[in-house]
Amino acid sequence: MNDTRAVRTLADEALAYASRGIKIFPLWHCVDGTCQCADRENCGSPGKHPRTRNGVSGASHNEQAVSSWWAMWPDANIGLAAGANGLAIVDVDPRHGGDASLEFLCTWASRRGVDLTDTYTVRTGSGGLHLYYRQPFGGIKTAPRSFGSDGIDTRGRGGYVVAPPSVHACGGIYDVIHRRGLAPWPECLTYLMEPEPTTGAAAQPAPARPPAGPIAADRMTRRLQAWALSGYRRELEALPGIGEGGRNDALNRAAYRAGLRLDAGLLPGHTATTITADLHNATLGWRNFGVRERAATIRSGLDGARGKASKLILPGWATGWTPGTTGGAR
Ligand SMILES: [Zn+2]
Repeated sequence: MNDTRAVRTLADEALAYASRGIKIFPLWHCVDGTCQCADRENCGSPGKHPRTRNGVSGASHNEQAVSSWWAMWPDANIGLAAGANGLAIVDVDPRHGGDASLEFLCTWASRRGVDLTDTYTVRTGSGGLHLYYRQPFGGIKTAPRSFGSDGIDTRGRGGYVVAPPSVHACGGIYDVIHRRGLAPWPECLTYLMEPEPTTGAAAQPAPARPPAGPIAADRMTRRLQAWALSGYRRELEALPGIGEGGRNDALNRAAYRAGLRLDAGLLPGHTATTITADLHNATLGWRNFGVRERAATIRSGLDGARGKASKLILPGWATGWTPGTTGGAR
């Protein structure tokens, strides 16, 4: 695997990035799986953390700066700034469940007419993927589990990725597998991200959540909303542990019950769409139960609950409360 590097060195490749105006900076590298930084085998991020003090904020396309870095450290891996290069990068790590999460995101996007994989793509040294996009206005955040799904992070403002042809601790080489133009950031993904705090000049507007609808604000309703939400969360948490035989029923029941709560106005901030996404996320680890099958089960559960708020079994203390009223039990 060192053949590639015999032809073009990391220094050559670093300069090639710089000459294309792409801001990069040097990272530590590994020898036989061991990071060459002071922490050696105890390093928490072998071959992936900056050699320079400023790290990503000092990323540069100045050819002099770049050639002096790689003259000093010819084996340095290449750190490529995300936000500073106008990039928004989705980082998929199959070792943490990223493949199943990506499958869900791809289905989510394809229903909205977007092919997530139709963009410049790098296979990482450990077998993961980096999907590169042009960043949207305001950029995207750099965060782990950005979509609430395992094994998928985003790299945007202030973030970076390890770029080809860097070498992973395991010996694998980062490699461009789709050398096509950058697609724009798929806006349908923004919807799945946790809203960001809206303070500070750099903050971008939080993705629009659908309006929750008129919610009766009396105490009984608020208590019931808390009850419904905690029940909903408990059911989501239980789903990953359901055994193979009971999965279809469990998912259908969870969707149906969530639908009843939604129809009763007890899940403010939620819609059928957000519930569908939550249920998909909760069941990503189910093998032999594909995305399409899950989607059909969820839809059937939600459809079954539509208009049936009165079927919701309320706790004893709420007897007499009627959906959509302002607290009939008082
Ligand atoms: Zn290290």
